[in-house]
Amino acid sequence: MPLTSPILPARDAPSPSSEPSTAASLESLFRPRSIAVVGASRRPESVGHAVLRNLVTGGFQGPVFAVNTRADVVLSMPAYRSVAALPQPVDLAILVVPATAILAAVEDCRRGGVRAVIVLSAGFAETGAEGAALQDRLTAAVREAGMRMVGPNCLGLLHTDPAVSMNATFASTPVRSGRVAMSSQSGALALVILEYAREFGLGFSSYVSIGNRADVSSNDLLEYWADDPLTDLVLLYAESFGNPGHFSRLARRLARRKPILAVKSGRSLAGQRAASSHTAALAGSEAGTEALLRQAGVLRMDTLEQMFEAASLLAHQPLPAGSRVAIVTNAGGPAILCTDACAGDGLSLPELSPATQAALREFLPPAASVTNPVDMIATADAPAYARAVALLLDDEDVDALIVIHIPVRREEAALMAAAIRAGRAAARTGAAKPLLTCMLSEAGSGTMEAEAARGGAAGAPEVIPNFRFPESAARALGVACRHTAWLARPEGRVPDLAGLHVEAARAACDAALSARGEGWLRPDEVGEVLAAFGVPSLPTRLCRTPDDAVAAAARLGWPVVVKLASDTLVHKTEWKGVHVDLRDERAVRGAWDAIRATLAAAGRQAEMLGVTVQPFATGGVETMIGLTRDPSFGPLVAFGLGGTAVELFGDVVFRITPLTDVDAEEMLGSIRARKLLTGVRGGPPVDRAALADVLLRVARLAELVPEVAELDLNPVRALPEGQGVAVLDARILVRRP
Ligand code: ADP
Ligand code: MG
Repeated sequence: MPLTSPILPARDAPSPSSEPSTAASLESLFRPRSIAVVGASRRPESVGHAVLRNLVTGGFQGPVFAVNTRADVVLSMPAYRSVAALPQPVDLAILVVPATAILAAVEDCRRGGVRAVIVLSAGFAETGAEGAALQDRLTAAVREAGMRMVGPNCLGLLHTDPAVSMNATFASTPVRSGRVAMSSQSGALALVILEYAREFGLGFSSYVSIGNRADVSSNDLLEYWADDPLTDLVLLYAESFGNPGHFSRLARRLARRKPILAVKSGRSLAGQRAASSHTAALAGSEAGTEALLRQAGVLRMDTLEQMFEAASLLAHQPLPAGSRVAIVTNAGGPAILCTDACAGDGLSLPELSPATQAALREFLPPAASVTNPVDMIATADAPAYARAVALLLDDEDVDALIVIHIPVRREEAALMAAAIRAGRAAARTGAAKPLLTCMLSEAGSGTMEAEAARGGAAGAPEVIPNFRFPESAARALGVACRHTAWLARPEGRVPDLAGLHVEAARAACDAALSARGEGWLRPDEVGEVLAAFGVPSLPTRLCRTPDDAVAAAARLGWPVVVKLASDTLVHKTEWKGVHVDLRDERAVRGAWDAIRATLAAAGRQAEMLGVTVQPFATGGVETMIGLTRDPSFGPLVAFGLGGTAVELFGDVVFRITPLTDVDAEEMLGSIRARKLLTGVRGGPPVDRAALADVLLRVARLAELVPEVAELDLNPVRALPEGQGVAVLDARILVRRP
């Protein structure tokens, strides 16, 4: 039976939970017919009062019941002693009772026939071991009763579909309806998030604060939103991923139809495990998240602010077809800032067509610049903006337009906004290309016209996102372009690799594990594993005596390299254990003696198994290929610049497995030093196909030989195109899976 990775099932494996049932099970949360607030309070400042008030003032479309053990009336509504005592069964109960009373409340809900609960109460896993134990009991009770649960320790859930119109949160911020869905793990940040969204003119289809996500997770929500006709864009604020493999499959599928923006807070997942290989040291705890999100097509943002900036563009404007942007301005400074930022965000400023330039020249003063960025200078009036916007949008070499305006007088802002709209309407390309503004006069970022943003009704003008700073506009557009590029990227496939001898590789690892337990393989064992997976290594002879070494050198041919062989001292350079370009017997014996002497001086000579002898390799580019295993993300394959200073440069990228041919090629193009691979200073390009092949083989090794815990191939000499690659040095750490 073929083995797959213990953590990440094969890419196209069926998902563990069948989707229709997950989405269906969430209906009672998103579309309840009736709601009870358990712990509804008479005190206006309390959570139990706020949520009841929000449900009523938000216009929930079904009946709402107040449950209070003492009061008879809450918020002018008759209150009931228990859910079971309500005059009719309810679909959803919102629990705002102290943690100590939660199990009794769930039992009451069960008796009352409730299908789902939202637990706003805190005092669970976020408080420590005791709270975590209570949370486990809560979750068990909820599952036992066949209910779904959001929370505990959350802000609640909001669903703006007019047929439901449910604000089951205790937030005081009014929320606008729209086509953005959001899941937030942090209850505390939820309030800030709603404020931000408002500022950026974003309207929500639904918003779920999942809190401690004891039951409903962001994975469940991704399933729900995938088929939600009211949602076009998904925002995630996550602290961790419960089931990364499942997330990856769901997100990858969803992102094809609806962009996903995510802020993942930096909290370490993997913890601080002592890392012994270069790959593991370089991976840290962030590499898995980065790789997971990138491969799934999720647009990762560093901050909430950046997420909302990008969201205001993606929610309101079409995706750009490409990365060519035109800028029009009435002031030079902000346009220069914007131009620089565009370059940094992977956007380009194309030359405008001669026709566009001539048409601009017709109405702009001689001092104006009609090349990109178009500087209409301070005298530019509203009609000039309107004409320029139309012309630039219609230029065939332009995919997106950023309009910058510094008002000379305050009252100009509204005029300009109208002119920009008029220009857009006059363009032949109409609303097909994204338009962003940077109206520096406006109080803040958000939408160009607050009026327009409040629209959403039929016939209301479209929302044009406005940015406080030109750099923010460029950054948001860069994100949109990244998504366009991801959508255009072929999915790739996990190719069949010739000559994999899985059993031989496992046998070599197993023999070492049985003999010596967890640890580093000896050079000869490393050679067996790599040979079994068809990884092209330099001939490497393990020699136990100086005479052996001399004989091996003679057989391999001069010059040779002699290295310390040890299964404990694996960073050889640190032990002065690498002697290159040795041209005769005397040099080989000298290298042996020198290595011995260094170890003897440190009292470690017993750890010298002997030396390895290799041919001396010249030419090519030193790269590294590695493998490590992340406790939550599974195998991570690394590619980077190689040599003895890899950790110093940290120029490494990671991907999760399974790795496709497209992933592998993308890795080669993602390191900072990627130009080294295409040939520098007249040098020939390296053999990319051979490098990609080794990456794919290492990824397969990760999946098929679980005993390999960590692996460094460093350096991997990438030779000129057609000449392949050669692994000069390899170490493998084995551990029982
Ligand atoms: P370690 O990583 O344990 O310090 P390596 O075997 O990687 O030891 O050797 C250190 C450096 O020596 C390599 O990065 C490479 O530049 C050089 N080197 C190693 N083996 C050879 C070889 N066979 N031919 C040429 N240079 C080599
Ligand atoms: Mg090395």
